[in-house]
Amino acid sequence: MVVLKGVNKHFGSLHVLRDIDLTVDRNEVVVLIGPSGSGKSTLCRTINRLESIESGTITLDGRPLPEEGRPLARLRAEVGMVFQSFNLFAHKTVLDNLTLGPIKVRKLGKAEAEKRARELLDRVGLADQADKFPAQLSGGQQQRVAIARSLAMDPKVMLFDEPTSALDPEMINEVLEVMRSLAAEGMTMIVVTHEMGFARSAANRVVFMADGQIVEVRPPLEFFESPRSERARDFLSKIL
Ligand code: ADP
Ligand code: MG
Repeated sequence: MVVLKGVNKHFGSLHVLRDIDLTVDRNEVVVLIGPSGSGKSTLCRTINRLESIESGTITLDGRPLPEEGRPLARLRAEVGMVFQSFNLFAHKTVLDNLTLGPIKVRKLGKAEAEKRARELLDRVGLADQADKFPAQLSGGQQQRVAIARSLAMDPKVMLFDEPTSALDPEMINEVLEVMRSLAAEGMTMIVVTHEMGFARSAANRVVFMADGQIVEVRPPLEFFESPRSERARDFLSKIL
């Protein structure tokens, strides 16, 4: 579904992505972990072209990513992205947050967009919140709305960049539960997270990054029980 080959990216003199090769299969859940500053967010952002790359190729479902222009809007509809900050439209209701993109980009009719939005709100456990504004919801609820909003665009892959890092502890699980059920339904997902319980239980593979490089790609149990690299052992000893 997503293939990166020889991807390189600098910010000025800082080489943030170094010869990244990564293949994410359809229906696969890949959890990306690594120290702060290792390039995890940048890697995610290259996949929906929020960041350009200097060399290498990225293909999505067999097609190379467009460089710029109109095709980018279509690409971004196919690559859902959920960030630490929920980025909902503050002055729109929950329902409008979910219907705007599909009506504008997917050219769905209003009634159809609303029907689909209500189904998605039901799926994330927020069927009764459709007419509220984001500020009237808890952080966990807002993040679930953000996930539903991405799903409303019918993406081929979902990227999650530390989706629970800004949440109070008691709200983390409700968001992880939604992500687990998405994974169980076969969504292709790339997830940057510090939630190692989620990585163990939901990931097909763990990708460990350090200094802009992919250091290890392993099934989660193997990775957590016997990391091969010194960098990974060091990282795990600090967080577990
Ligand atoms: P991570 O998500 O793993 O913490 P990032 O991808 O955010 O890492 O950042 C990788 C490196 O690139 C860091 O050193 C960060 O400071 C730097 N960086 C990220 N975004 C920018 C930017 N827009 N301009 C300059 N440097 C950046
Ligand atoms: Mg980051």
